[in-house]
Amino acid sequence: MRTDFNHKVSTAIAKHYDTVVIEDLNTQGMTQNHRIAKSILDQGWYQFKKMPEYKLQWRSGEIIKIGMFDPSSKMYSKCGNIKHDLRLSDRTYHCDFCGLTIDRDLNAAINILNMGMIRVGKGFPEFTPVEIPLAGYLNHEGISYV
Ligand SMILES: [Zn+2]
Repeated sequence: MRTDFNHKVSTAIAKHYDTVVIEDLNTQGMTQNHRIAKSILDQGWYQFKKMPEYKLQWRSGEIIKIGMFDPSSKMYSKCGNIKHDLRLSDRTYHCDFCGLTIDRDLNAAINILNMGMIRVGKGFPEFTPVEIPLAGYLNHEGISYV
């Protein structure tokens, strides 16, 4: 079931986008953290990370990997201010500098996209993170293949 799910989502990503930006997380290193290891292994992150890559290559698309040491989570996507005291339990944060309040994962996704576009010389386009077109595939109750 997990492999089937990973195939469906990665195929949808490869069909909808010519360029995909991902954070190249050190999943092996992250499994050393016993609090999150089970979740990482359960979700087959390594397998899922590989699938969009070769599916994009089949379609002459491009995958851009952002290094794990780039400040995707610590940096506020609106102003570039850095949150130095970020903890794994912080799910939403507020920037006292610009007033932005944002979900941690959405903020990181915007930063990863912007870093990838800068890397390929496309600046700051008005793209949105991948979660919006995938809304038909993922919903709050789990999986939906609408
Ligand atoms: Zn800010």
